[in-house]
Amino acid sequence: MAVILDGKKVSLDIQEELRIETKERVERGRKKPHLAAVLVGDDPASQTYVAAKVKACERVGFDSTLIKLPEITTEKELMEEIKLLNENPKIDGFIVQLPLPKHINEEKVIQAINPKKDVDGFHPQNVGRMVLGLPTFLPATPNGILEILKRYKVNTIGKHCVIIGRSHIVGLPMSILMGQNYYPGNSTVTLTHSRTKNLKEICQEADIIIIAIGKPNFLTADMVKEGVVIIDVGINRVPDETKKRGYRLEGDVDYNEVIKKSSFITPVPGGVGPMTIASLLINTLNATKLNSK
Ligand code: NAD
Repeated sequence: MAVILDGKKVSLDIQEELRIETKERVERGRKKPHLAAVLVGDDPASQTYVAAKVKACERVGFDSTLIKLPEITTEKELMEEIKLLNENPKIDGFIVQLPLPKHINEEKVIQAINPKKDVDGFHPQNVGRMVLGLPTFLPATPNGILEILKRYKVNTIGKHCVIIGRSHIVGLPMSILMGQNYYPGNSTVTLTHSRTKNLKEICQEADIIIIAIGKPNFLTADMVKEGVVIIDVGINRVPDETKKRGYRLEGDVDYNEVIKKSSFITPVPGGVGPMTIASLLINTLNATKLNSK
């Protein structure tokens, strides 16, 4: 029977550890961590994610600042806001919630963030450090996946890990981290994407599958072997009139069927999503330690 990788519980465990560490830190007269989040426009999913991040800060005793800017904000105005955050000694780390409105160049914005405050780990300098295995802010979702694999002692060493999706925030960094020479990692990695041929056959060979593509029910039971470990990153809003909000959340995996063949599996919701928040908090505490040295 599959073990459910309970991201909600593990995330709350981590938050409790962070709450205790923060309390002790503040009692010793050290700086209280302060995370800022910049939200441009009114994308409903982004609003939900940012609200959850701010709420988690409150739970662990961090200060938080939410900067809400209208959809019509220009790239120049956003850059000015980032400059202020870079220079503000009270702010230890900040994130700019993606996606940004189309008229703003995301790469330019990410590159404007001070790498020492880049708690999302998206700045090229931090990505480079991650590739080389140097201390850095690991991107929140991949780091959350490593953390849940570690807490459930899932064996990754020498395993064939197939990653589906090559986004800069999930699939690509995940492929690097799972191949690195430490645990969790040391896997033999295959990075697949929309141009991959024979995806079904490749998945059937996988000991671990990490999927982040944004397509509900994409990974079906016939694509996996017995005993597979499944990490489902997808968050898809599927219309559902029986729900008050008019939709339900589903991952990229046909969960009810794939679970029957899995040894470990993350549910959606309650799997990778809460782990992403926990990693962001870990990065923020680390930024506070780094910046107040
Ligand atoms: P994305 O949307 O930027 O890119 C999708 C990727 O999927 C691309 O690399 C593409 O090549 C690949 N792809 C598309 N169709 C494919 C196919 N048929 N076969 C193989 N590969 C295919 O990716 P993203 O930003 O990583 O988001 C993916 C999903 O993960 C979304 O549902 C998103 O909401 C979710 N997500 C969840 C979290 C979390 O915290 N749980 C964090 C980030 C993203």
